[in-house]
Amino acid sequence: MLVGIIGAGPAGLAAASYLSKKGIRVCLFEVSPQVGGLTRSFSFGGDWVELGPHFLSSSLSEPIKELFDNFSFTEMREYERMSRIYHKEKYFYYPPRPFNIFRNIGLLSTVQASFSFFWYKFFPLSPVLNAKSFMQNQLGDWLYRYFFASYSEKLWGRKTHELGESYAKSLIGIQDISFMNLFTKLVSAKKTTFDTCLYPMQGMNSLWEYLAQSIIRNGGEIYTSVSITSLLTKGNKTEVKINYAEKGMVFDALISTIPTHIVLSLLEKEQQTQHNSEAERLVKPPFRQLLLVYLEVETMHPISDHCLYIYDKDIPFVRLTNFNAFNGKKDGRLSLLLEYWLDENEPMWHMEEEDIISQAGKDLCKIPDLKNALVKKGEIKKIKNAYVLPDQKHMERLQSLQKQLAQFPGIYSTGRSNAVNFNFSTEDALTEGIRIARTILGERYSEKNE
Ligand SMILES: Cc1cc2nc3c(=O)[nH]c(=O)nc-3n(C[C@H](O)[C@H](O)[C@H](O)COP(=O)(O)OP(=O)(O)OC[C@H]3O[C@@H](n4cnc5c(N)ncnc54)[C@H](O)[C@@H]3O)c2cc1C
Repeated sequence: MLVGIIGAGPAGLAAASYLSKKGIRVCLFEVSPQVGGLTRSFSFGGDWVELGPHFLSSSLSEPIKELFDNFSFTEMREYERMSRIYHKEKYFYYPPRPFNIFRNIGLLSTVQASFSFFWYKFFPLSPVLNAKSFMQNQLGDWLYRYFFASYSEKLWGRKTHELGESYAKSLIGIQDISFMNLFTKLVSAKKTTFDTCLYPMQGMNSLWEYLAQSIIRNGGEIYTSVSITSLLTKGNKTEVKINYAEKGMVFDALISTIPTHIVLSLLEKEQQTQHNSEAERLVKPPFRQLLLVYLEVETMHPISDHCLYIYDKDIPFVRLTNFNAFNGKKDGRLSLLLEYWLDENEPMWHMEEEDIISQAGKDLCKIPDLKNALVKKGEIKKIKNAYVLPDQKHMERLQSLQKQLAQFPGIYSTGRSNAVNFNFSTEDALTEGIRIARTILGERYSEKNE
């Protein structure tokens, strides 16, 4: 059996590694020169940094541990996760802790928030049409406005009534906040997200390089810096043509970890299907762009947070990542990442690199703890089409794309590009990669293995 895999991010690497360990021949095609996808690392200011923060829970599932041979090849640092929200000159714990919220907003606002919460529980909006009404029903109008309205607008550049319910569910992280659920949270100190995490001291890329090497050792092939020019299905088999080879390669199964509309367009070039009715034509989703600004700063007051989620609307970046909290270095020097989520027509996307770095330095100083931070060095990375906009058509679009792809037997899609949840994590990608590999092998999986 020969399996082709498009994309060497965590999902593609996990699938390839799992299959190659089972003796299946795999070929990975990656458009960029490096493996690791959006979780890849590079060196900055003497530290390993990534394209965002990546939390790996210290209670990883058995299949993931097996994939990395229990991490015997690298030093994994275990740390207590600490993230907060910065909003209206106050710090709130993330995941939220009700008593911390109440202490920060004061008695009067607590009464107003509680009244609003119970009002929406007794008189919920119906039908729930979008992210706004979903959040109002779950949290009440007061908490929705205070925390989520302006932050969501900063993330997506759209009003919350233009965003879908699925986005609100992944942002809040729960399907339904019931009375009982809230009561349990009030009386218990237990946080909702995992508390203890792991970070590879050689950066996340040491994990991806390890998987890549083990795939090659097991007879697999990895093509980096390639572009796929066309896909052609013949029964259950798929032929993949790449830019620098005249002959295509034929696979018994093809796994795609890239957006489905791209796969369909590659298929369409050679294969006009009779299935494509006008209503089911390719739908290219709208995307949000990501501008990442890395700053090396010196400060007298280093922060200990791994992440600060910036809900404040006067500060334009959405999240601050502190890589020193991941690697444990404490020397008054910080490697920080400021994330700006933009549309392509916004001026900041087109500014000169040094102007962006200077602007980011000023934005950083708006956080009181970092107001005297001295920027020593900066670097920027632009990630085009980083996030699919979870608007009201998001689910419908995904379903339509999946339906179109299902007409090509032998092609499987997985990974963040095809997920409903915009919070799809590195662990989710690894789990889904393993799951799709097992599906292709016809393996059954039990709860114990998950
Ligand atoms: C800014 C940011 C912050 C994040 N923060 C976190 C976090 O805190 N915690 C967490 O767990 N996760 C986080 N994530 C998510 C995590 O990065 C993803 O879930 C994970 O990378 C998904 O892996 P994947 O393999 O599905 O997709 P990707 O990592 O996107 O990999 C897909 C691969 O396909 C390649 N590719 C694309 N098009 C083609 C093509 N035409 N041909 C060949 N190859 C192609 C890409 O180059 C890429 O290597 C974050 C992501 C971002 C962008």
